[in-house]
Amino acid sequence: MALVNDHFLKLPDNYLFADIASKVNAFKAMHPKEDIVTLGIGDVTQPLCPAVVDAIHRAADEMATPAGFHGYGPEQGYDFLREAILKYDFLPRGIHLDIDEVFVSDGAKSDTGNIQELIRWDNSIAVTDPIYPVYIDSNVMIGRAGIQQNGRWTNVNYLPCTAANDFVPQIPDRRMDVIYLCYPNNPTGTVITKEELRKWVNYALRNDTLIFFDAAYEAYIQDASIPHSIYEIKGARKCAIEFHSYSKTAGFTGIRCGYTIVPKDLTAVTLDGQRIGLNHLWLRRQSTKFNGTSYISQRAAEATYTAEGRRQIRETIGYYMANARVMLDTFRRLGFLAYGGENAPYIWVKTPDGSSSWQFFHEMLYGAHVVCTPGVGFGPSGEGYVRFTAFNSHEATQEALHRIGQWLEQNR
Ligand SMILES: *Cc1c(COP(=O)(O)O)cnc(C)c1O
Repeated sequence: MALVNDHFLKLPDNYLFADIASKVNAFKAMHPKEDIVTLGIGDVTQPLCPAVVDAIHRAADEMATPAGFHGYGPEQGYDFLREAILKYDFLPRGIHLDIDEVFVSDGAKSDTGNIQELIRWDNSIAVTDPIYPVYIDSNVMIGRAGIQQNGRWTNVNYLPCTAANDFVPQIPDRRMDVIYLCYPNNPTGTVITKEELRKWVNYALRNDTLIFFDAAYEAYIQDASIPHSIYEIKGARKCAIEFHSYSKTAGFTGIRCGYTIVPKDLTAVTLDGQRIGLNHLWLRRQSTKFNGTSYISQRAAEATYTAEGRRQIRETIGYYMANARVMLDTFRRLGFLAYGGENAPYIWVKTPDGSSSWQFFHEMLYGAHVVCTPGVGFGPSGEGYVRFTAFNSHEATQEALHRIGQWLEQNR
């Protein structure tokens, strides 16, 4: 008889987006003639750019020849991609990394979920709240998060980010072993300034805290003063692991490629006080459990760094950010308190009249036939907010905003 890992049983059954889908399906069953506009799920909608598609074709043709066939690649990724990452994502920002500090992966979800394997189950963890659910759920599965009571995990320290603190999390008043940060933020669409990020790095250095920094949306930053990488802050090499993804940057949600930086200066401690390098541990972990990202995906990722590639992905990001601008302006004009959207593809909207996230979700679904994501699905401080994404066509975005405007008009 095999005993189950009962930490899994602590997780609520349904995933947020499955809940939303079932509510949308219920609406459709009752209103078969009505169409719905979805500004809910965080998936990109625009096609791959031509530079990437060409690279995929070329890589596929190569694989069709004996000389160009590629089987298992290096677990850490091909050098051609790791070199491009150093050259284009870090050097221009004055960040000097070694190629062995770059680990190519199949995306940031796996890496942000798996990274906690490097540390003992009894470390203390903190997350900004609301947050991408993967961070907490992956800690639940290993027994580090405790149990859920009233929507909170007993062993997770929540750092609230709400309108009340202008979405700037307060540095904890005690030491934590691990902190997850995500900037630009999913779900709030807000960013962190260099000054604020410096406070976190200094806290981490002072307290020997490990920071897991998710930079999946860095390509959406428009304001030149906002940091794209935590390594822009001095000392971060000693305290931070950083996650990147081509999913939102270049529409790779279905291609799958990302990378993680684990600096060689980074250490954690054994019970008897010995310092262990995390770069080596992650290499060991990846070589055991991961067999590399496909050659074709890595050639596709490499193409995002060519001159055409960079221009084309900037164009697509500009397309989404035009949606974000219209949404932000329109929500504010309609009288909502709306946040984010300036350096990220998400708009975070306060629900009016104190209604709950799910209440507002329902009212808008039935009243305007528009789908958003209830903020409470991202953590307790998300209650009373909903998230709208800019990942849609201009037309669908306009249509959704038009419907929301009409719906509000009818309810006046
Ligand atoms: C979308 C997203 C990712 C990217 O996940 P992939 O596995 O690379 O597709 C990572 N972190 C956050 C916060 C995200 O929203």
